[in-house]
Amino acid sequence: MAENPFFAPSTLPYELPPFADVREEHYLPAFRHGMAEQLAEVDAIAGSAEPPTFDNTIAALERSGRILDRTATVFYSIAASNSNDEIMEIEKTISPELTRHNDAIRLNRALWSRIKLVTTEDPEEAWLLEKYRDDFIRAGADLSEPEQARLRELNEELAKLSTGFAQSLLKALTESALVVEDPKELDGFDEARIESLRKDGKYVLPLLNFTAQPALAELTNRDVRRRLYELSVGRAPGNFELAARMATLRAERAALLGFPNHAAYSVADQTAKTVEAVEEMLGQLVRPAVRNAEREAEELTAQAGFAIEPWDWPYYAEKVRQARYDFDDSVMRPYFELNRVYRDGIFFAATKLYGITFTERPDLSGYHPDVTVFEVFEEDGSRLGLFLLDPYARERKRGGAWMNSLVDQSFLFGLRPVVMNNLNVTKPASGPTLLTYDEVNTAFHEFGHALHGLFSQVRFPRVSGTSVPRDFVEYPSQVNEMWVTWPEVLANYAKHHETGEPMPAELVEKLQAAEKFNQGFKTVEYLAATLLDWAWHKLAPGETVSDAEAFEAAALEAAQIAVPQVRPRYRTNYFAHIFSGGYSAGYYSYIWSEVLDAESVEWFKENGGLTRANGDHFRRELLSRGGSLDPLTAFRNFRGREPGIEPLLKRRGLD
Ligand SMILES: [Zn+2]
Repeated sequence: MAENPFFAPSTLPYELPPFADVREEHYLPAFRHGMAEQLAEVDAIAGSAEPPTFDNTIAALERSGRILDRTATVFYSIAASNSNDEIMEIEKTISPELTRHNDAIRLNRALWSRIKLVTTEDPEEAWLLEKYRDDFIRAGADLSEPEQARLRELNEELAKLSTGFAQSLLKALTESALVVEDPKELDGFDEARIESLRKDGKYVLPLLNFTAQPALAELTNRDVRRRLYELSVGRAPGNFELAARMATLRAERAALLGFPNHAAYSVADQTAKTVEAVEEMLGQLVRPAVRNAEREAEELTAQAGFAIEPWDWPYYAEKVRQARYDFDDSVMRPYFELNRVYRDGIFFAATKLYGITFTERPDLSGYHPDVTVFEVFEEDGSRLGLFLLDPYARERKRGGAWMNSLVDQSFLFGLRPVVMNNLNVTKPASGPTLLTYDEVNTAFHEFGHALHGLFSQVRFPRVSGTSVPRDFVEYPSQVNEMWVTWPEVLANYAKHHETGEPMPAELVEKLQAAEKFNQGFKTVEYLAATLLDWAWHKLAPGETVSDAEAFEAAALEAAQIAVPQVRPRYRTNYFAHIFSGGYSAGYYSYIWSEVLDAESVEWFKENGGLTRANGDHFRRELLSRGGSLDPLTAFRNFRGREPGIEPLLKRRGLD
């Protein structure tokens, strides 16, 4: 037991987790020891003979559970990026135990009565205290014993369902892959790509986690496109039932906690605060977005010469894009080499804005040889933190791209941040990794989250870095996307991987012009997923859904977002954000954050763009504050005014 690497803090620089020492058999003992340790710490806090103070109650809770925190951070990072059957088994076992553990803290009556008595004059402490009170009330601290007993049952069953949902999805990425025997069916892919898909004499194209598989834009064989599309929308069919059950249980839980539905419960502690605020916002977007998509569908049908189906959209959209903008992803790719995009693009922009620099640390490692560790320094050479990058797709890696924190910055523990970005770029069989334009965008986006974590300057871990409401968290990352096509940045990284020639000016212009293209599709597929999420989570308590697919269709119809050729970005069966990812009734967050993003991009442009002064202002007022104050106050301190929706409407062509 003494050898368990989770029992003591890591001795590596920045307390980087000792991935090389971690083995599967360490997790369960560390989880259980960590939970027991934290319960003992909580009992000591709750049973203290001292009068309750901020330090002996709230700060003491912040200090508790270190072993559990270290274990969970590493475990869930691996479960997302490098899972295997054993990890999946552990996840199933531990998920209900963790739920019981969290309930044991949040539903501890002695602890709750002490928290209620704490007072403080310090604004950062007062904000955190408020968060704790809200967390406890939202977790059911004020309920009666029988109500709490039912709540515990609901939480446990929901945790199990959510793990089951995520696991069948992970399996479906490869189990529902498109398999062809004749490589001619993959016409449209280049030879290297086809070669990289070869497996046991067949060709296997794994699914990506959303509806419109990017390969649909390239495959020339219409029937193959249809098969790929149907595999995509039909994956993990058992998840329909799990999702419906979860929605019903969530509605019951919301009612227990005094809310009319789960959506109302879910947004109450967000910046949106009310169901009405979200619906008002979405209401302004649906009609113009649908009009745009219908116009685009007509163009594509004209291009194709027949009525297009959902599996044809990406293919003919690409054709129209090439015809109109002479834009071709394959012409762009040689200019987007992975290392250059990071070093000369993403890091370059961060240096220009914030003065920070990046040095690779080959002596430090992640959980897989493909993970690179960078040390980040301030302009004056002082240490800031670590940034880990795991760019490649692999079997048993969750789909999509994300940022996660491996060590949260806090003054309480004197810890500097260690943050990580995960992408799902296909690793080439040999040669350089060339990205698509979308992948470049995603890389800048995820790095925006990383900056939010790296710049955190707060006292308490609970509000460190990206620990902000989820309808605010996408805002800094979206802002960072503005530098993708910023001329000074683009000129610095978009260079041909063989010749070093900069991307020709006319390609750059096309790139910028083509950005406005296909916005109807993009907005509708996003809004359809948002409204689907919303419908599931506005179920009234007691309501059950026996046919989840019919429910889905009816919900889209009722929301007036049903464009036949544009399906939601996620259907119910693979909507991981809302059924296993903590975004239930929260998928609206992306566009909600985009209001602040569009405002901020305008601010940067008004003030001269890529300058140290602008970077410092954004960093000081916003990025460094984490969740340590009201997020909209931080926004106003940065922008100097209330946010308005106009910049967003203009950007999406909806004005
Ligand atoms: Zn994001």
